[in-house]
Amino acid sequence: MPELVFFSGTMDCGKSTLALQIEHNRSARGLAGIIFTRDDRAGEGKLSSRLGLVTDAVEVGDGVDLYGYLVEHLSQGRRADYVIADEAQFLAPEQIDQLARVVDDLEIDVYAFGITTDFRSKLFPGSQRLVELADRVEVLQVEALCWCGARATHNARTVGGVMVVEGAQVVVGDVNQSADEIGYEVLCRRHHRRRMTAASARAAALSPDVLPVSAP
Ligand SMILES: [Zn+2]
Repeated sequence: MPELVFFSGTMDCGKSTLALQIEHNRSARGLAGIIFTRDDRAGEGKLSSRLGLVTDAVEVGDGVDLYGYLVEHLSQGRRADYVIADEAQFLAPEQIDQLARVVDDLEIDVYAFGITTDFRSKLFPGSQRLVELADRVEVLQVEALCWCGARATHNARTVGGVMVVEGAQVVVGDVNQSADEIGYEVLCRRHHRRRMTAASARAAALSPDVLPVSAP
């Protein structure tokens, strides 16, 4: 039975690396896949991993009908044995419904990869729809670690080095270097709640105000 599988996790948990691995394993077996992505760090129409691997992909813009794309592709006599959707958190809920239809009506496996929650620890709409519709949700086993060594389960956004919990869910084009540069860091829930990033923990450790008071 074809399946809609949601591989979920935090940032840095190796989602895109696994997506590339699945793509490699299946194409090595002579299978043909369609790779959808959106706003990959390597640029438009690319699926890349932090480990440096990259492959071509179909950039999915707003309003693109993913089911329609597959029907069109197949009607041209081309093959699609499986679909990979990376950065699936950025897809609209309707596009996740279209992926479910690809599984049910076209009988093609769909492997979606996405970050579950945003920097405010709220579900991305695309990820929420995947949790609702997926046949299986796999939490990735390559665990990202917080600076304290605990399992990192939350994504933090920093602006100019300071953690923020408000702002737009998706900031596009935040790659320019500046004092207000937006960064991301994975944290455990405890340190996400306390808004303690690696940098602020280091600063606190160096401050005499917070040195532990030794017993008299
Ligand atoms: Zn921590």
